[in-house]
Amino acid sequence: MAKEKISVVVPCYNEEESLPLFYEEVCRVAKEMKYVEFEFLFINDGSKDSTLSILRDFSKKDKRVRYISFSRNFGKEAGMYAGLSNATGDYVCIMDADMQDPPEMLIKMYELIEKENYDCVALYSSRHDDYSLLRKFFTSCWYKLIGAISSVPQQPGARDYRLMKRRMVDAIVDMGEYNRYTKGIFGFVGFNTKWIDYIPPQRVAGKSKFNFFKLFKYALEGILAFSTTPLVISAIIGLIFCLISFIVIIFIIWKTLVYGDPVSGWPSLACMIMFMGGLQLFFFGIMGMYLAKVYLEVKKRPIYISKETEKDL
Ligand code: UDP
Ligand code: MG
Repeated sequence: MAKEKISVVVPCYNEEESLPLFYEEVCRVAKEMKYVEFEFLFINDGSKDSTLSILRDFSKKDKRVRYISFSRNFGKEAGMYAGLSNATGDYVCIMDADMQDPPEMLIKMYELIEKENYDCVALYSSRHDDYSLLRKFFTSCWYKLIGAISSVPQQPGARDYRLMKRRMVDAIVDMGEYNRYTKGIFGFVGFNTKWIDYIPPQRVAGKSKFNFFKLFKYALEGILAFSTTPLVISAIIGLIFCLISFIVIIFIIWKTLVYGDPVSGWPSLACMIMFMGGLQLFFFGIMGMYLAKVYLEVKKRPIYISKETEKDL
């Protein structure tokens, strides 16, 4: 019987220091897993260092190595989409290039998916010892929030490191949306997923590409892509304020009729106007964010643009 094939998808952005170490380790694991075939699909996400030339070298000497090099930096989400849609394996695994997703764990993941017939084995981390207190706080608040406002299940602390069967990969690739929040897409497509808890090691070399601002944008993306509850909440709050103002108007008319019309109370009036103005702008902002997503979606821009692949060598 022909061997099954695992495609390992690796998004890389300025990973010249980590790549040689990663490649060595992933080859060692592949050697251990003799019973399967491997394909390594690296995505060069517009790196500015020598990542691309390292990938060219890997591909020249190892037939299992394929790569797609983007015309600029499109982000990790685009990298994962390119990898998933071009992988040819019966199984596809997404791994970071910095060894925070230890290739060694693939052995156990494959065993689980094979023997216990899961569609996907995914990793999450219940402890974040390396996070600052502030990041821990925001992360836990975010998961509580998304759990409350979204119907798509999301595992707290989920990483992108996972091994999936072909049918799940096809379902993900079929979701060709431009605003990609892959962690939500994994939950949306469903399938039988086995979760393994682990503590990710430190990055083997180089620096993390995600600063506070990027993480904040990513978190917002998750909410906008998988929940419309903020729109409902703003509509409900708007309705409550309408009711309150109606009651206040009745009260003022009654007061004027009974006690006359002394001109007073302008500071409270000014405060109310400012408060309502702020609230309206805030809700317009929420609506605007959803509208912006629709705007980008209808343009149907490509998720990534490939400039070079191993076929060009
Ligand atoms: N990455 C990418 N494009 C980007 C940013 C990151 O392909 O614009 C890759 C990066 O090379 C790495 C993975 O995504 O393989 C995870 O990035 P990183 O380790 O910086 O994130 P962290 O582990 O700190 O969340
Ligand atoms: Mg990392």
